[in-house]
Amino acid sequence: MKRSIIFFCIAAIVYMCGLNLSAINRYFSEEKKEIQKIEEKEKQEKKEENKEEKKSTKKKVEEKKVAKSTEIEEEKEVKEEKESSKEVKTSGKYVDQSGDPYTNTVTVSNLNDIDILVNKYSGLPSDYTPSDLVTVSNSGEHNAQMRAPAAQAFEQMVVAASQQGFILNACSAFRSYDYQSGLYYNGVNGYGVEYADRYWTRPGFSEHQTGLAVDIRMDNDTSDLDAVRYNSHYPWLLKHMHEYGFILRYPDDKEDKTKIAPESWHLRYVGVDLATYLYENNLSLDEYYGA
Ligand SMILES: [Zn+2]
Repeated sequence: MKRSIIFFCIAAIVYMCGLNLSAINRYFSEEKKEIQKIEEKEKQEKKEENKEEKKSTKKKVEEKKVAKSTEIEEEKEVKEEKESSKEVKTSGKYVDQSGDPYTNTVTVSNLNDIDILVNKYSGLPSDYTPSDLVTVSNSGEHNAQMRAPAAQAFEQMVVAASQQGFILNACSAFRSYDYQSGLYYNGVNGYGVEYADRYWTRPGFSEHQTGLAVDIRMDNDTSDLDAVRYNSHYPWLLKHMHEYGFILRYPDDKEDKTKIAPESWHLRYVGVDLATYLYENNLSLDEYYGA
């Protein structure tokens, strides 16, 4: 009897413990569920946040895109403006150069201007001699004469040249109408018109009559006018002459525009502004006048 009572008591205790355990289990699982719920909620919130963030970065990217496209538009406008101003500048002074050389020629009237065009379509009056000719102080073997502003600019370039370590001088500058006439007709008499036209410009159509052109020598090399091309300082001269108002008048790649075979030695004074403009835009003076 005693034993069965003890057994009953133990059984009762075990049963009650079981109840408690399941209650504890239930409690913990409830707790777990709560935690899971909270975690899920947090996850959801994070997702929402991410979405928001993504949205705002997307918005930012869109804004950037818009800003960039307006920038591009603005750049385009500036470019177009530049292009149109270029057009105005090149066609502002137009000389028809579409026909054969020496046909349909015009005579220069604004003779005092330093940007005048003298080529096989635009000539000078036979009686024109510049009124402000002066002898260039560094004139080499001849007494080269140029118009005063051109001579002054050339002398400044001579100084710059000596600072670079080479000697620059003027071999031939102003040539009168009569002098050019003698050169040309000597050629015609000796070799015929076709040959003469290839090597000499007809009187009135030589830039040398303007007093703004100069044939140069470098380091006193008198072997050949084209010797300057091989002087080690020639690239410097090509790069900097516009700073003194000069352009290389007959470049190697412009014969179709100038109608004159390349002359590495023939420079023309047009003033710093125009020289810089032509240099930066790779234009010959003929193109500036619409060639
Ligand atoms: Zn020349």
